[in-house]
Amino acid sequence: MNTAIIVAAGSGQRFAGSQPKQFIHLLGKPLIIHTLERFSACAEIDDIVLVLSDDGRAEFEKIKDQFEISNLKSVITGGKTRAESVKNGLDSIAANDDDIIAVHDGARPLVSTDEITRVVNKAAEAGAACLVAEVTDTIKQVEDGRISGTVDRNSLRRALTPQAFRYDILKRAFDGVDLSDAITDECSLVERLGFEIAFVEGSSRNIKITRPEDIVLAEAYLKEIATNARMNR
Ligand code: C5P
Repeated sequence: MNTAIIVAAGSGQRFAGSQPKQFIHLLGKPLIIHTLERFSACAEIDDIVLVLSDDGRAEFEKIKDQFEISNLKSVITGGKTRAESVKNGLDSIAANDDDIIAVHDGARPLVSTDEITRVVNKAAEAGAACLVAEVTDTIKQVEDGRISGTVDRNSLRRALTPQAFRYDILKRAFDGVDLSDAITDECSLVERLGFEIAFVEGSSRNIKITRPEDIVLAEAYLKEIATNARMNR
């Protein structure tokens, strides 16, 4: 049994919209529903655990019956940090050691079902797998107000989600850890265990909706996906 933990309990401070980010509409549908539909359509995912704030849970209750998310197993309350929210999700699951847990940012509605499948399959094979994207800008190191070096971008990747792990590895990675803001992904915890993490190349379109301008891009991508799906019918 593979489970997806979708974390969407953030306060969206950088978004600064009048509505919580998770529920803004993209082409007429709440953002979080787009994300849930991608996981619901993935044959490798058996159950989905959705993590929201208490306010988010109340909002989700109001809209959930309008949409069919067949494998949504539970909706639980998140914590003060992203890591706490993931831990709450993890603690709510009773899994076998070799089940795969895929953790995903609710704010990434453009993840493809193919990306989810490849990450889950890679984690089943390697124990831990991270979806990544190439770095296209030249990256500078800065120090004391000046540029101190240039990093070879060929050896860099941006960490996207989902990131997927065997249940026993992810559980161990969270054991006794201070769940502070400094932990921005699960791979960093698994790295601390000294465990090798495989990676899977993902699409730069799998953006995290962070600022209002991201909406324009997300809607353009969603329109293109809908057009392509119509043409392939
Ligand atoms: O803050 P950041 O952009 O890294 O958040 C990534 C994801 O983690 C978002 O989907 C956000 O809602 C979620 N999150 C959470 N609980 C928090 C903070 C962030 O579920 N306390």
